[in-house]
Amino acid sequence: MNGSPRQIDLLIQGGIILCMDAERRVLEGHCIAIDKGRILEICPDSADKYQPKQSINASDCIVMPGLINLHTHLAMTYFRGLADDLPLERWLNDYIWPLEARLLNRDFIYHAALHGAAEMIKNGITQINDMYFNMAAIADACTAAGLRAVIGEVVLDNGSSSPKKREFGSMVLEYRQRYADNPLIDFCLTPHSIYACSRDSLEQVVHASRKHNILLHMHLSETRSEVEQCQKERGCKPVQYLKEIGMLDCPAIYAHGIWLDEEEIDLLSGTPSSIAICTDSNLKLASGILPLASYLKKGINACFATDGVASNNNLDILAEMDCTAKLHKAITGDPCFLPAPQVLAMATVESARALGVERQRGSLEAGKDADICILSLNGVESQPLYNPYSQVVYNLGSKQVRDVVIQGEVVLRHGVLQKLDEAELLGFSRQYQNQIKAELKL
Ligand SMILES: [Zn+2]
Repeated sequence: MNGSPRQIDLLIQGGIILCMDAERRVLEGHCIAIDKGRILEICPDSADKYQPKQSINASDCIVMPGLINLHTHLAMTYFRGLADDLPLERWLNDYIWPLEARLLNRDFIYHAALHGAAEMIKNGITQINDMYFNMAAIADACTAAGLRAVIGEVVLDNGSSSPKKREFGSMVLEYRQRYADNPLIDFCLTPHSIYACSRDSLEQVVHASRKHNILLHMHLSETRSEVEQCQKERGCKPVQYLKEIGMLDCPAIYAHGIWLDEEEIDLLSGTPSSIAICTDSNLKLASGILPLASYLKKGINACFATDGVASNNNLDILAEMDCTAKLHKAITGDPCFLPAPQVLAMATVESARALGVERQRGSLEAGKDADICILSLNGVESQPLYNPYSQVVYNLGSKQVRDVVIQGEVVLRHGVLQKLDEAELLGFSRQYQNQIKAELKL
């Protein structure tokens, strides 16, 4: 060591750092040294230790791990506000699925996904878990935006038994190979739901997951009617059905999980399953409210998600955290339920655990990927500050998201997207909006 400063890619200085590590350290007067996409160290701030190519002054800010959105349909972003105030089945059958059948092509998916990726980043989200069509278009859009994503090609055969074996596992492996040099992108298996998939397809998905240890991502028990349908057509409750076909042995993220009874929650307990909580979407579609207290009591990992923009109508995890925490305090009648540090853990470390990447991200620690969200405290609406966790969960919103770093790259700086041109995104959005209006004769 000759004492000369070490050259690094990025240095974040100052602020209140919520590490979200095992000790839940909260640091002040520190800096985060970042090089080659990873956190090199978090140490007391010293002006001469590092010579960064780029630096961020985070004084008057909260610095925390980037938020993870555990269930999304990124390319549905152009359907925001379309056909609101309808039941889920009508919304899907009369609007979304017919429109998708007519409009979806690579360009539409790419541009809608790019628009959604920009919104995620502006909301402090650094990683998503996405389910849709055309994995390459989604992967390319996320890469262009600099957003980290796990992507799945939805398996959707509407219950009709598929005559031939489909190589779901090989497809994921082939895409992993294709994007092997891209640290932002990974792929998983995404059967849509019990009601939209044949038993044959689901068994093949389970086989592929077991054979190659691939994560599953699926909708589960979003509406009461799909539970009734499962009992009528398959002779058992949804989670019993998943157990029967072997899915409960696979690492899986189940979106919604509203209508599970205690017996089903017991079946999920102790399995490598996580629940993606989609509060806003569930409230808006009047689908119901998930039994979160029961999940947590039985040790089931539950984390936040926005679902697609079409049913939310935004991609805002900070809003989900606030709304979910308050809703479930009211439901349990317990203001101590879901304290703020636990809520932030669910949006960061616990989400990383759901994705099986808790060793790589979810907290700010040396050696982990540099996925970071910086929130401004520099405004009357953000002050005074006594507890940074409660400030994040109950007070700060997407408006305070100032800078976002993903894989060591600054993708949002002072609220401005660094890899995308927002005016250009708005131009494409207007163009596709007109096309959708013409299709629906609006
Ligand atoms: Zn969904």
